[in-house]
Amino acid sequence: MLDFKLAPQESDAHEKAGERIYDLIVIGGGPAGLTAAIYACRARLDTLVLAGALPGGQPANTDMVENYPGFPQGVTGADLAQLFQDQAERFGARIELDNVMSVDFSSRPFSVSTYGVTYKGRTVIVATGANPRRLGVPGEDKFYGRGVSACATCDGFFYQDRTVVVVGGGDSAIAEGLFLTKFAREVIVIHRRDELRATKIFQEQAFANPKMRFVWDTVVEEILGDETVTGVRVRNVKTGAESVIETDGVFIYVGMEPATEIFAGQLELNEQGYVIADRRQRTNIPGVFAAGDVQDPYYRQIVIAAGTGAVAAMEVEKFLAEQE
Ligand code: NAP
Repeated sequence: MLDFKLAPQESDAHEKAGERIYDLIVIGGGPAGLTAAIYACRARLDTLVLAGALPGGQPANTDMVENYPGFPQGVTGADLAQLFQDQAERFGARIELDNVMSVDFSSRPFSVSTYGVTYKGRTVIVATGANPRRLGVPGEDKFYGRGVSACATCDGFFYQDRTVVVVGGGDSAIAEGLFLTKFAREVIVIHRRDELRATKIFQEQAFANPKMRFVWDTVVEEILGDETVTGVRVRNVKTGAESVIETDGVFIYVGMEPATEIFAGQLELNEQGYVIADRRQRTNIPGVFAAGDVQDPYYRQIVIAAGTGAVAAMEVEKFLAEQE
């Protein structure tokens, strides 16, 4: 569990009265948002991070991160998220555990509202990241949190010596499937094609792991169960044959969807819903920048999210200097 401290409340009265105006409001507490905060605070910008109710971004739900430079032995996702936060706070970022419900970018200072408070910022960095995509099959909603999950690090422990299914063939499916082998008796990866999308090093580890089994060319049509999950009904996409695979749990890793609902109609989004930002992380609205997975349909790596967060903060500094 990340140790996010509650921010001091002394300025809330000013906020409620609409008097306090931050130089920068960062929406999102993952690697992009917290890196932006580190850079902004070091530039002596008065910075508020609205980190959401479950802060830390995707790393907080990741077992081990082995490709973030500076950690030759790897680092747990939770530790890395905590280190980002510690560093941002060390330079003076105010981090609030609050979900943003709406924004108003129609005039400056911009308004960013949570349930209780409307914050004002001269600039905003949108770093809301992406959420796990759902399969959209019968049984998925019914059993979500009761046998269906998108977080092996949260729920894997409950499957000691059980059988679990992992759906997907990307880095998340294979990395988290490997993590699940620490608990489960068998991890069955169901993938819609006959080759994995995941990085080769993950593939090598997965194929060498005796607990991992692969079901190729197959999609999940329904999640079955009574009180909890008992199986999945699957269809082979080449033969059309249907069958049932018995399992105690289903972990779904079929990609991510950008968290951009609250920006629709204000920020330009592409057809997949990602914020459109240029190489300087500028959006269509001057003073509003975007960083991390919310604007990255391609790479979606922690190191790149952090990099774009740094760029966005440096651009904020430049933007504010030009305004003055
Ligand atoms: P992803 O790379 O988009 O992979 C999604 C997987 O789900 C693909 O194998 C895809 O199949 C499958 N899929 C998509 N829709 C499906 C559906 N409706 N039914 C069945 N299968 C479906 O997503 P991800 O694995 O979550 O990774 C997201 C990003 O994070 C990637 O850029 C990844 O590299 C990065 N990541 C990196 C690491 C790391 O340590 N380097 C770890 C985790 C994630 P197809 O292959 O047929 O398209």
